[in-house]
Amino acid sequence: MKEINSSEFEMDVLHSGKVILDFYSTECPPCEALASKFEELSMLYGKDVKFLKIYRQKNRELADKLGVKSSPTLLFFDDGKEVAGRLSGGVKRSDIIHNLDSMLPSERVAEIKSLIKPTVSEFDVIILGAGPGGLTAGLYLCQSKINTVLIDIALPGGNVATTHEVSNYPGFIEPQAGYMLSHNMSEQTKLCGTVYKVAVDVTRVDLEKKEVIIDEFETVRAKRIIIATGTTPNLTGAKGEKELKGKGISYCATCDAKYFEGKEAVVIGGGNSAIEESEYITRFADKLTIVHQFDKFTANKQAQDKVFNNPKISVIFENEPRAFVRDGDKIVTEIENTRNKESRKIVSDGVFIFIGMKPNVDLFKDKLTLDNWGYIKTDEDMRTSIPGIYAVGDVISKKYRQITTAVADGTIAAMAIAKELD
Ligand SMILES: Cc1cc2nc3c(=O)[nH]c(=O)nc-3n(C[C@H](O)[C@H](O)[C@H](O)COP(=O)(O)OP(=O)(O)OC[C@H]3O[C@@H](n4cnc5c(N)ncnc54)[C@H](O)[C@@H]3O)c2cc1C
Repeated sequence: MKEINSSEFEMDVLHSGKVILDFYSTECPPCEALASKFEELSMLYGKDVKFLKIYRQKNRELADKLGVKSSPTLLFFDDGKEVAGRLSGGVKRSDIIHNLDSMLPSERVAEIKSLIKPTVSEFDVIILGAGPGGLTAGLYLCQSKINTVLIDIALPGGNVATTHEVSNYPGFIEPQAGYMLSHNMSEQTKLCGTVYKVAVDVTRVDLEKKEVIIDEFETVRAKRIIIATGTTPNLTGAKGEKELKGKGISYCATCDAKYFEGKEAVVIGGGNSAIEESEYITRFADKLTIVHQFDKFTANKQAQDKVFNNPKISVIFENEPRAFVRDGDKIVTEIENTRNKESRKIVSDGVFIFIGMKPNVDLFKDKLTLDNWGYIKTDEDMRTSIPGIYAVGDVISKKYRQITTAVADGTIAAMAIAKELD
């Protein structure tokens, strides 16, 4: 694996056989989540494909020339031509493998796969998801001397890690950077001795057998499982959104707002996240337009006041996005008035979407009892409908989803399990 800069691009990428190039940034949780996978895969595929990294902040001109709009972005080259699809955002190990395999003869792929040895490990408790709920459960279990493993598809921290500032978590006089708050939570749990398996692919979960397969080859078993997988952002469903995700459309202000210095942005949404993140984006952007479907925001009054008093922000109510189209360096957002159906276009340098969340239950939704919105139903001790399986935090059916409520759920589940295993 090698770090290059723009001046080496031609020689190391365009005049080299097969290459994977990672445009990364600092202070970018998805980049950190990718780093360990990238390194591990370089050991498996390194003889066939050159693994290169390039620091996007210091090589912006090249990034712009290649149309790289967010970090991380992985590009694949074969004999100087870009091949396979670009990968960006929360890049999965399996997606990278898919692209790498497509560049190699099938016999060679089979040889590489044969080098991966299956493993099995056993714990008392598996926690799926290392956000505030999972981390707190991990801390309490560890302090009760219960052998626990935390498994996460990304780095620890959950949604807090990508939140700009948290001002309502007790114990801190000043607002805390979300990244630092989640980092401290994670370090506390890790220092206690909880085992971490993070930035992995969760291939399969067997709730009956209490078995989790990660990265296709590693089986992890336990006596209890806590599901703490949280939520992920909803998509608008407008045309072009999926295609432009990571190429002009972002769901993470902490990751991408810094690239809007002196530029214009559009934010879709009107809840607390949309409003608070808009404030943050205007630290960089010169102009920001918020598009919201209703005639007033659903965010709290204090957050709304900040937005209405911010001269960089203008608001378009009662409009929904219908399409996102790239036009050179710009993104054209086509919006439609929900009352009179009139369409208009907003040209900006990029779009941020903050329109609510959906529960991460895909791996086990057919097995557990869910509420009408797809959240996991639990009893007051956080037990789900399957014996030995608990769920905590934003993924469960409840009224208020906050850091404080997630850590409370994690505490309760851990204490209930500690009592059961005693
Ligand atoms: C932009 C934004 C701003 C916010 N601001 C605040 C605030 O100021 N104050 C506040 O109290 N709350 C805030 N919240 C809400 C708060 O972040 C959540 O309530 C809290 O993070 C929930 O914690 P959790 O552990 O349940 O889930 P999450 O934080 O969502 O963590 C879930 C974890 O599970 C992992 N995961 C997902 N799927 C799998 C899988 N299949 N296998 C393994 N792991 C998986 C994820 O990678 C993630 O790390 C904010 C949320 C957002 C999105």
